[in-house]
Amino acid sequence: MARRPGRNFLFVPGPTNVPERVLRAMMVSQEDHRSPIFPELTKPLFEGLKKVFKTKDGQVFIFPSSGTGGWEAALANTLAPGDKVLTARFGQFSHLWTDMAMRLGLDVQVQEEEWGTGAHEEKIEEALVADKAHEIKAVMVVHNETATGVTSNIAAIRKAMDAAGHPALLFVDSVSGLGSIDFRFDEWKVDLAVSGSQKGLMLPAGLGFVCVSQKALAVRKNAGLNRVYFDFQDHINTNPGGYFPYTPATNLLHGLRESLACIEEEGLENIFHRHHVLASATRAAVDAWGLKLCAKSPRWHSDTVSAILAPEGVDAAKIISHAYNRYNLALGAGLSKVAGKVFRIGHIGDLNELMLLGAISGAEMSMLDNGVKIEAGSGVAAAQQYLRQNPIEKQEATPKAA
Ligand SMILES: *Cc1c(COP(=O)(O)O)cnc(C)c1O
Repeated sequence: MARRPGRNFLFVPGPTNVPERVLRAMMVSQEDHRSPIFPELTKPLFEGLKKVFKTKDGQVFIFPSSGTGGWEAALANTLAPGDKVLTARFGQFSHLWTDMAMRLGLDVQVQEEEWGTGAHEEKIEEALVADKAHEIKAVMVVHNETATGVTSNIAAIRKAMDAAGHPALLFVDSVSGLGSIDFRFDEWKVDLAVSGSQKGLMLPAGLGFVCVSQKALAVRKNAGLNRVYFDFQDHINTNPGGYFPYTPATNLLHGLRESLACIEEEGLENIFHRHHVLASATRAAVDAWGLKLCAKSPRWHSDTVSAILAPEGVDAAKIISHAYNRYNLALGAGLSKVAGKVFRIGHIGDLNELMLLGAISGAEMSMLDNGVKIEAGSGVAAAQQYLRQNPIEKQEATPKAA
C-alpha cells in the first residue's frame, strides 16, 4: 500500500495509543535480567501496580503474556479439576474466559445474560444462596465487557456475595477497565483480578497482570490444576529480589515504569473523570445520530468503549472497513454474535477531546458514505457541545475571593 500521510487514528479498545514518552522509554538496549541493577527497575513496578489495583494486601504478578495468560494463571493456581465455578456470559470476552474454565476441566455453572447487559448481582446472590453445600469455589466476572461496551457493578456483586454468606472467591477480569475506570481491589474484596498492558495501561500487548488476595494465595496449595509457566510459586520465589523465573519482557517493563509515572502524574481519579467525559461525549454523538448503543441501559454504559448498533439493513463491517481504508481510522469490529451489527469506538487510554472528535467525525463520514441516514455533522456537534461544557480536567476548587 502507498504511504499514508498523517497519523492513523487508533480507536479500537486495545491495543490503545501509547504515549510518546512511553515509546521512548522502551527504546533501550537489551540487558542482563539477572544483573545486580535489574531490581532497581522491577521492584517499584510491583508497588506501582498495587496502587493502580488499589490494594495494600494483594500480591501482584507480572507475566510475559497477554491478558489471556492472566486468565489462565488465575484459574490454574487456585482451582482443582472438577471444582465448580459460577460465571456470567454476555459478550465475547466473558464467553472466552468461561470457555477457558471449561477447557481446563472445571465444572462451570453459566448464567447466560442478554448481550448488552452484564453480570446481574441479584442472580449471582440467588445462585450462591441455592448452593447450600458451598460447592461453588469462585465467581468469575468480566468487569468491562469490551465486545459490547458493558460495565458490571463489582461493588454490588461483592455485596451480593456477602449477603449470601457464601465463601466463594471473587475473580474479576478488568483487562479493559483497570487504570481507566474505578477499580478497588481491597475495598471490593476481590480475590483475583486480571489485567493486561495494552488497554488502560497504555503499553503494547505483552504483559499480563494478576493481583491476588492473601485468601486466594492460601487456597492455592490445595489446588490441583496442572501449571508450570503460570505457577505463582516460581514468581513468589524470585520476585521479592526483583527477578523473574524466566526471561521477562524487559523493554515492556521499562515502558511500564513510564506508564505508571504517567498515571501517577495525572492521578487515577482524574483519569477516571477524563474517561467518563470522553465516553459521555461519544454517547451524545450516538444520540444525535439517532442510533443506539449495544448496552441496553445507562446502568451498563462503559466509559472505555462504546459499541454502536448500525441501523437495520446496514453492515457495520462496511462502516469499519471504509473508515479504515478511506479515512485511516481504526474502529473496533463486532465480535461473534454482534459481528456486522456493531462498530466500536474505544475511548480508552491516552486520549483527549480533539482526538476523540477525529474518531467521531471519521465514523460519521464513513456512515454517510455507506448510506446511513444521519445528519452530517450532528454527532460531532453534539460531542463538541458536551465537551465544551464538561472539561476533561477536573476543575480545581475555586479559591475563595479575598
Ligand atoms: C482485551 C481483553 C482481554 C485479553 O485479551 P488479550 O488479547 O489476551 O490481551 C480479556 N478480557 C477483556 C475484557 C479484554 O478486553
